[in-house]
Amino acid sequence: MHTQQDCRGLDAQDPLRGLRDLFTLPEGVIYLDGNSLGAMPKAAPARIAQVTTQEWGQDLIRSWNTAGWFHWPQQIGDKIARLVGAGQRELVATDGTSINLFKVLSAALSMAQADAPERRVVVSERSNFPTDLYIAEALCKERGLSLKLVEPDEIAGALDASVAVLMLTHVNYRTGAMHDMAAVTAAAHAAGALTVWDLAHSAGAVPVELKNARADFAIGCGYKYLNGGPGAPAFVWVHPRHAERFWQPLAGWWGHAAPFVFTPDYRPAAGIQRYLCGTQPIISMAGLDVGVDTLLAAEPLGGMAALRAKSLALTDLFIELVEQRCAGHGIGLATPREHGQRGSQVCLTRQQGAYAIVQALIARGVIGDFRQGDGGQRPDILRFGFTPLYIGFEDVWNAVEHLRQVLDSGEWQRPEFNQTHAVT
Ligand SMILES: *Cc1c(COP(=O)(O)O)cnc(C)c1O
Repeated sequence: MHTQQDCRGLDAQDPLRGLRDLFTLPEGVIYLDGNSLGAMPKAAPARIAQVTTQEWGQDLIRSWNTAGWFHWPQQIGDKIARLVGAGQRELVATDGTSINLFKVLSAALSMAQADAPERRVVVSERSNFPTDLYIAEALCKERGLSLKLVEPDEIAGALDASVAVLMLTHVNYRTGAMHDMAAVTAAAHAAGALTVWDLAHSAGAVPVELKNARADFAIGCGYKYLNGGPGAPAFVWVHPRHAERFWQPLAGWWGHAAPFVFTPDYRPAAGIQRYLCGTQPIISMAGLDVGVDTLLAAEPLGGMAALRAKSLALTDLFIELVEQRCAGHGIGLATPREHGQRGSQVCLTRQQGAYAIVQALIARGVIGDFRQGDGGQRPDILRFGFTPLYIGFEDVWNAVEHLRQVLDSGEWQRPEFNQTHAVT
């Protein structure tokens, strides 16, 4: 059994401990929601101020060339590629996650149907993040296809000759469960289907090997574990074997082979550049760049493998301490215990009061979040994300101690913790 003293010792020995200094974290807060909005890098305000006061304010339109604004989607994309097992010039930072999903799912469906028009089904998980399901539903409706939603253990069985695309989120947002990307991709390919992977809860959280897994398409989020800031641009990757086969439906001028020739007809750029659409939000891009740099700062210390080892140690410790110190309060575990099946978050369940318990913790400075269940098979979730860049072992101890006190005292039953806010 770990003591608080042990946890301090683990922090003292942690080779990644210094990376915490790259972030602004408010005094008295234990931030366990970096899976929803990553913490702010200390370098972000000055960098954003540089973009506004100097590059925009003084250099004006010249900055597209002088500051290199035009190349940022590719340059930042090349940095993100290093975190997800993609090659250089294969990934771009652009648009939002939902929009990028529309682009790649559309391209994947065009490809699949050109090769096998009889394949008319998109398979996904019922517990996938809703925006992914909504985008897929809309695209299927538009194309007269059908969307089939299954449970995780039904995926393999659903891969038959009718399936065009298997669209999955690598790490489930509700449970933290992680798919074996290589094995699932191989099964999809064996069944003749293409794969689209959403890396929203994977990029910067767990090692990802897109190319080694022979994945077909991937997208991911910039403001979660990549620390890019609220609404930061997302990213999109297409395996080079597919990148030039079709162009994506949002064929804007930034994806044109020669945008500044201003021709009336569309000619797609080579490779991943055609997945750009229009002018990018440069101020937000600067935030994303600084956020991605916090992950690259771990490269000399072992990179994603070292971050993963620490993340597993943190989540193991959290599970152990909750089970020991909060026993008897009806707390369950929704996240798999097996390392190979877990992302960087731990999701707890409770029949009643999950929302209020999370609110009581937030009032104490322990910030996690709540995800609603369906009153039946899907329980209410208390969700805690562990960003190994800035969370330490003593933070885990303290977070569990607060949870224990909230449960033991019944503090969560106070009326103020039972009022629902617009954003949970
Ligand atoms: C966070 C998340 C998104 C977010 O999409 P936005 O377009 O950025 O709002 C999409 N998909 C998954 C799986 C997510 O976890």
